Amino acid sequence: MSETRHTFCRICEVLCGLEATVENGRVVRLEPDSNHLATQGFACPKGLKQHKMYGSPDRVLFPLERRGNAHVRVRWDEALERIGQRVRSIREKYGPDSIAMYVGTAAGFSAMHPIFAQGFMQGVGSRSFYSSATQDCSNKFAVARDMYGFPFTQPFPDLDHIGCLIIVGANPVVSKWSFLQVPNPARALKDIVERGGKLFLIDPRRTETAKTAGEHVFIRPGTDVFFYLSFLRELHEIGGIDRKRVATFMKGLDEVLAIAAPWTPEKTSRVTGIAPDKLREMVRAYRDAGASAIYCSTGVNMGGHGATAFWIQECINAVGGNLDRRGGTLVGRGIFDFAAFGKRTGMLLRDDRSRIGNFRSVNDAFPGGVLADEILTEGKGQVRALFVTGGNPLITMPDSARLRRAFDKLDLLVTLDLFVNETGSQAHYVLPATSPLERPDLPFLFPLFLGMQRTPYLQATRAIETPPGEVRDEASIYLDLCRASGVSLFGSKIAQFALESLVRARAWKHPEKPRAVPLELLFTAMLQATGHGTFDALADKPHGRLRTPHQPGGFLGKRVVTADGRVDLAPRALVESSKSLEAAFEREIIEARRLKLVTRRRVTTHNSWTHNIEDFVVGELGTNYLYMHPDDAARLDLADGDIADVATNAGTVRVPIRFQSDLMPGTVALPHGWGHQIARGLSIASKTRGVNVNLLAASGPDHLERVSGMAHLTAIAVDVVKARGAKNDETWSGLSEDV
Ligand code: SF4
Repeated sequence: MSETRHTFCRICEVLCGLEATVENGRVVRLEPDSNHLATQGFACPKGLKQHKMYGSPDRVLFPLERRGNAHVRVRWDEALERIGQRVRSIREKYGPDSIAMYVGTAAGFSAMHPIFAQGFMQGVGSRSFYSSATQDCSNKFAVARDMYGFPFTQPFPDLDHIGCLIIVGANPVVSKWSFLQVPNPARALKDIVERGGKLFLIDPRRTETAKTAGEHVFIRPGTDVFFYLSFLRELHEIGGIDRKRVATFMKGLDEVLAIAAPWTPEKTSRVTGIAPDKLREMVRAYRDAGASAIYCSTGVNMGGHGATAFWIQECINAVGGNLDRRGGTLVGRGIFDFAAFGKRTGMLLRDDRSRIGNFRSVNDAFPGGVLADEILTEGKGQVRALFVTGGNPLITMPDSARLRRAFDKLDLLVTLDLFVNETGSQAHYVLPATSPLERPDLPFLFPLFLGMQRTPYLQATRAIETPPGEVRDEASIYLDLCRASGVSLFGSKIAQFALESLVRARAWKHPEKPRAVPLELLFTAMLQATGHGTFDALADKPHGRLRTPHQPGGFLGKRVVTADGRVDLAPRALVESSKSLEAAFEREIIEARRLKLVTRRRVTTHNSWTHNIEDFVVGELGTNYLYMHPDDAARLDLADGDIADVATNAGTVRVPIRFQSDLMPGTVALPHGWGHQIARGLSIASKTRGVNVNLLAASGPDHLERVSGMAHLTAIAVDVVKARGAKNDETWSGLSEDV
């Protein structure tokens, strides 16, 4: 029997409303929900085919234990007891910090998963927390904490009223918006231009977004920070500082202006490639529009100066008078005031230091780029056990070949996942977790706690598929892992006891269902505590329930949670980091003739996730390509279709070349998320031939951005040569793993 059910996608920040056709407890078709109040019938191919991924025969349905080179099925009680025993003994012998956790992006798109994962680590008493954020966005969190007092205070452009928008290093048409939920980004950008607004897209590639609307301006990869400095300097020069607003709500203006002062457009054009006149034109457009914003994403975040560049960007929006202004940038409000809560409780504001590299924790997590060193370096606090939850660090982290060797040294590696992916292939235990369609949920933290939505609304979804096999949701798994490890969730015996009682009560009431935490009850508690009704009432609104639209004027002087309530334009750590800019500028000049590699994404792939969906990797789609400008190829005597070796000090990958005139000469592009050949449990992805671009990125404390711990994963200087003796039918990445 077939029925129609409504839910929302939890792959990326758009959270598209979906209409599902369900037969025998499983989804057989997904379509965009055209009645959804916010996403209004928008969805992408990944979201509409995700059920194929969850219904794959590769899906892990039972707990697995590694014996030699194979994983064998074990019972849940056996897996939990053996993992718990190892946690107890490692903790007792080496201390709590020897037990680490890596939280991946998939975990972040579930409302309860990250909370319970954190609860387990708090129970263990370990600070060894890592997340995927230091691969793509920790710079934003680190800067927000310093400027606004809380890492999740992230102003976003008011797209519906903006007069001038400048987008740097982002491609929303393919990757969607980040740190803001924007359904149909292409339409949103066209709307700005059609109502007479100005739109500039600054990128080393004429991206799909740049082809959609606005004016594209090339920039040399990794030089955004110099563009931003000149922009701020010029804004000041033409009288574009809102002095009254700055004096009322901010501090540190003179200091940041002094830092920007030497960076004339003439000077920075030497490395950015942006003509001084063009830069000045953009600054004037920004000032004259009255309500404007600069926005950036991963191209800036991952390019080596992410924190400094984002800091200056935020200063421009703030001192230009656009922060907390209609048509400028707004700070959303979720179901409660998260920043005030964080300040009161200290949540996400810890000031720990990493054992390796002395990095400050960001969002209570250390940089993933030191994880290999934390495992390989002996001494107190050496990581000996690792829980990987909703992530695949062996594809997504820098220098993944070295990380793989480090993982081999662990006494315990546990993954909670849907598949035996690359990381799971090395794991001692793989615990089978629910897919998004198999669990009840609320939108994740950004929309729920922070209101980072173009159209604020709330939605709840019930599970629309029956979990297959012995699959369990992560909250339930972590509760049981706590008990097995002899600790309590959040270090609270009361919380552990209360949640276990709820599990028992649910099992008594529904003996036919798997043992699980009643998530719906927890969601109701969260919603009621914040005055938003019950989970059931919300779930009965299948197309969402609108909230009050964003209003400017509620942030400055009211919700800034720095010690004095002012926006700090010149935080100490960032001012300190700016002292290395001259040296970085000189390096750019010296390396001006080298190729710079940027990463990119296909619309059908999402990080390392979707390569096991056959439709997305058939034929020509079954590999990534090194995209190169024909002029660069001619200079290097390379032809379209040639096989090339791409090398850095960290590694070499072999990959076929495709010409692309959309690139700024001197730039090559390679999609990320590939290199699945070592995965034991991805039967389709493991047959693809693409290479893992992160083999080219260095890990270790000397290679991370100092303020935020961000890995340098794009804008990397590379050498490209024709591969000797390469044939078109070889497996590219097989070579790269050995090099
Ligand atoms: S992956 Fe696609 S369908 Fe899913 S939320 Fe993102 S844009 Fe929407």
